[in-house]
Amino acid sequence: MTDTKVYLLDGGTLVIDGFHAFWNRGPAGEVRFPCYSVVIEHKDGRYMFDTGYDFDHVMRVLPFEKPIQDESQKIPGQLAKIGLKPGDINYVINSHYHFDHCGGNKHLHNACTICHAKELEQSANCQPFEHLGYSDLTFSPEIMKAKGVELPPDPVLDVYTPKFETLSGDQEIAKGLWLFETPGHTAGHYSLMVELKNRRPMLFTADACYSQKNMDMMCISSFHLDPTASLNSMKRLKALAEKYDAELFYSHDLESFKTYQTGANYYS
Ligand SMILES: [Zn+2]
Repeated sequence: MTDTKVYLLDGGTLVIDGFHAFWNRGPAGEVRFPCYSVVIEHKDGRYMFDTGYDFDHVMRVLPFEKPIQDESQKIPGQLAKIGLKPGDINYVINSHYHFDHCGGNKHLHNACTICHAKELEQSANCQPFEHLGYSDLTFSPEIMKAKGVELPPDPVLDVYTPKFETLSGDQEIAKGLWLFETPGHTAGHYSLMVELKNRRPMLFTADACYSQKNMDMMCISSFHLDPTASLNSMKRLKALAEKYDAELFYSHDLESFKTYQTGANYYS
């Protein structure tokens, strides 16, 4: 039996204002932050947790987030760095369907897509203030079609007909792979914990906590469906980290990201 391995794949960076990153606290000013994907080589298959943003989408819809992403930071380029092709991924897990977490789904044409049932529902029927978050619907051609969204012909999107498997509650989806409900940022947000043989478990907060500074200040981001639930989810992550002696890996923290092992350097 092969041991589980975890790879972190660098998907480039974006910019938001400090008052968005630290809601009602700031300070104002540009905060540049990383977006990354997690690949888990597990005996039951290859899983990918979140797929980053699509550069063309951000340039078209949110150019003020100033994306920096080179060719090697797109999903096919990222996977090539660890010797894989997009078709090698068996399962995609999306923490939630904001554009910076699902932009690469369309490349993963062989994968079954796993998400929280409430998230799939909300992404198709979001609140007006969630519109930009849920602006990249290419993860579900079906929702795109239902909403009448038309895009220029795209050879990648043309072959993409994902199969969804929706979950609710906390779930151990494969041995040592845990999804924990952490709602608030969005309706059906999941964080992921991976248990490994040779080190402490890795707990990927996703957007339930952007950074160490958010955690230290107990300060949520300004992007949320329910701020109180969002804060409770941050508290939950802290409690989970203590309970499992897990290390927290934040979703959008440039300082922390510099200390993470990326590319071909895996955790096991
Ligand atoms: Zn995000």
